[in-house]
Amino acid sequence: MNPTIRIATSTSASRRVFTFLRTGVAGLLVLALAYVLAASFPKPMFGYRVDYQNYQVWSDQPIPDEISHVLDDVTRRLRTSSLHDRDTPVEIFFCNESWRLGFFGRSFSTQMGGAADTWLTRQVFIRASDIASNRIHTPTGRPLADAAQRPLSYYIAHEITHSDTSRRFGRTIMLRYPQWLVEGYADYVGKGGDFDFEENRALFAAGAAALDHDRSGLYREFHLKVAYLLDKKGWTLEQVFANPPDESELDARLRMEIAFPAD
Ligand SMILES: [Zn+2]
Repeated sequence: MNPTIRIATSTSASRRVFTFLRTGVAGLLVLALAYVLAASFPKPMFGYRVDYQNYQVWSDQPIPDEISHVLDDVTRRLRTSSLHDRDTPVEIFFCNESWRLGFFGRSFSTQMGGAADTWLTRQVFIRASDIASNRIHTPTGRPLADAAQRPLSYYIAHEITHSDTSRRFGRTIMLRYPQWLVEGYADYVGKGGDFDFEENRALFAAGAAALDHDRSGLYREFHLKVAYLLDKKGWTLEQVFANPPDESELDARLRMEIAFPAD
């Protein structure tokens, strides 16, 4: 074969691959942008709205009057947060149709209790719920673990705390801070003080599954670490976020019941 022709063919093929890849990447970027835009403006997609105090609540189903009791309990829980400002409007969207939670919740999962957009809108999305009973519907239909400590108002307060944390510490909190801190503080506020520190510390030291996030999916392990620093060691939330301790060191201290050295 003539070597000149082979080189020309090879160059032409490379150009076609490059053009194909460039078109593909451009197409993906347009799709991603279209998705972010659509997910950032959910209001036209939710037909029902109730305003109560600083809360604006949207839903894809009629919103029962009992929402005011749920939101009063959210307010009570948020009083344990040093970040929450009652004058800040809060936008909450109930996603009774599961695709809405996957689409607007940004993670394409329909399994979670709720989600907060900490990047752009700071809107909160909550899964299908029985508002009148102050509880969420679980994805499986089976009873919820720790149901007494996790009514619907827990989930709303938890997600609002993620939004508040991003207002205070930046939109990239999920990337810059450890999971035990971000989820632990949201659980700490969401539970509104309904947390027995010594009981949970003893369960953690004993290796109980409920205090192991990997095995249970629960945030009690993370809550314990945040409560230890805020309530037992007297750190401020700003101090914890400025210098989060190494998690393995926290684990060891909680297991051994030894105190942190002087801060
Ligand atoms: Zn969370």
